[in-house]
Amino acid sequence: MPVRLAQPSEDSVGPFNRLSASQVNAYRSCPRLWFYEKVRRLKMPQIPVLFIGRAVEEVVCRMLMESPALLVAKASHDTLSANPLDDNGVPSRTSTDPWPAERLLALPSNMCPSTIDELREWAIERIKVHLPVALESMKLEWLKNERKAGEWDTVDPDYCLEMCINGLEFHLKEVQRCIDMNGGPNLKSWRRGNRDEWPAPDARRYTLANNHPLAQEGAITLLEAWELSRPWFVDPNAGKFAMNAVHPEHWFQGEYDLVYRWDGRIKIVDLKASLGRGDRSGNYVDQLQMYAMLWWVTHGKEQEVEFLEIWYLGANKIKTIPCPNVSQMAEMESELQKMWTQLRATTPGLDECPPEPAPVRGFKEGGIAIEPPDEVRCDRCDWSQICPGGDGDDDLPLGGSIQLPGMSTRFDLTPIGELNPRMTLIGEVFTVMGLKEGRRPQVIISQGEKFAKIQFLVDSHQDGTPSWPDSLSKGDRLKLDNVVPTANWKGEIELKVDPHACVIHASSDDVGSDLMEFRARWNVTGKIGLSI
Ligand code: SF4
Repeated sequence: MPVRLAQPSEDSVGPFNRLSASQVNAYRSCPRLWFYEKVRRLKMPQIPVLFIGRAVEEVVCRMLMESPALLVAKASHDTLSANPLDDNGVPSRTSTDPWPAERLLALPSNMCPSTIDELREWAIERIKVHLPVALESMKLEWLKNERKAGEWDTVDPDYCLEMCINGLEFHLKEVQRCIDMNGGPNLKSWRRGNRDEWPAPDARRYTLANNHPLAQEGAITLLEAWELSRPWFVDPNAGKFAMNAVHPEHWFQGEYDLVYRWDGRIKIVDLKASLGRGDRSGNYVDQLQMYAMLWWVTHGKEQEVEFLEIWYLGANKIKTIPCPNVSQMAEMESELQKMWTQLRATTPGLDECPPEPAPVRGFKEGGIAIEPPDEVRCDRCDWSQICPGGDGDDDLPLGGSIQLPGMSTRFDLTPIGELNPRMTLIGEVFTVMGLKEGRRPQVIISQGEKFAKIQFLVDSHQDGTPSWPDSLSKGDRLKLDNVVPTANWKGEIELKVDPHACVIHASSDDVGSDLMEFRARWNVTGKIGLSI
């Protein structure tokens, strides 16, 4: 089963506290980096390339979901998009609504591809229908992202198309293999309408009442091979993170990209819209081996993955990863459980996550290992400006300036001890209300053309004297001693009078600050001492 949902009655971990392969890789590459991203929740600048991978994966999956026996090449992008979903965003097992593929009659055979080349042409047309929609949707998501960085114009739709077609070519090899094996051991069962518990998404319901509507007789046909060899993947219409495989004890989870199983052997594929160069390619090897462990554990430790592949769609290359054996998977499971206890059972502090980066690994196009480059991880790290591994400092900086990751300008910092939130000023009463009625007075003072409201928060100063004089009239000259200036939501200046401040009549030689001298916003840095 490529999906194993959490069991709410047994899940004491919760969806946000599970370990994932990306967390494990982040921690192994540098504990401090993990801390910044997973505990402090700092988000790296969101550049367009991070969104492109999702668009390419979605297009490949939407194309795989469709059938050349049901859709003409130019059919609308949303023909199969209305799958019924349950409350959790998972394709519904109980809905009685019709599924999109059930509404479509099979096309006459003269409108369907009859050779692999015609099948390729049909699939490329489907990619061309889906790609602009997926890219536009990702562009909108990027535009809305508060941490967006870079320029969307750097996205090359032709390169994205090329990557999708590379994915298609890899899949067509599976289709051809399926034909060569006459459908493998499951053809009969598939024709009778039997489905896996989590079928490959094809816009049909989980169980079929009769034979598969596209089943033929005799040797497998091209269109049957397309259907039968379809891998499992997350239904592109499902909710985000709705279809994970969750460890039976709930402390680890993963989401597979493609799972091939038509020939009775399990192959997990990870799609990468990249060339496969650089340190990250090492993470992908570990990620897939963790997935092999997850598959084994979620199948009662009785079924093993036989093939692991990374499809580098940018390089048009497949990298084969060795599958771990049972003792390696058992060791991995135990190691990851310890890591979960260390990182997620309770949250470690900054001091427990030292800035100790692992050496940078070297990989060339296609994820092929090469000599490590002559560089340290901190040189390219998004957090080097705040981390002691780069230019940062764990101790409170005394002022100075800082350039936050993803920002182009530096900010001057003020030491918290130097902030003075109070001021003393002289002003004339412009209006006064409420004093005669025995209420806290509402007073507006002026300084030339400038005005401010006085807001009395208390009736008396901490030394027991009244917070305002007995009598107040328009034109009276007042001394506002130690008041706290703020700006309200309308942008008006308000002078707050608390137990440390008071308002008295001013003498002729009293002097005070100008109303406009106060500053309501400051840049400071600090550490959270206690959060409640
Ligand atoms: S700057 Fe270096 S030490 Fe700091 S988080 Fe990045 S990699 Fe780790």
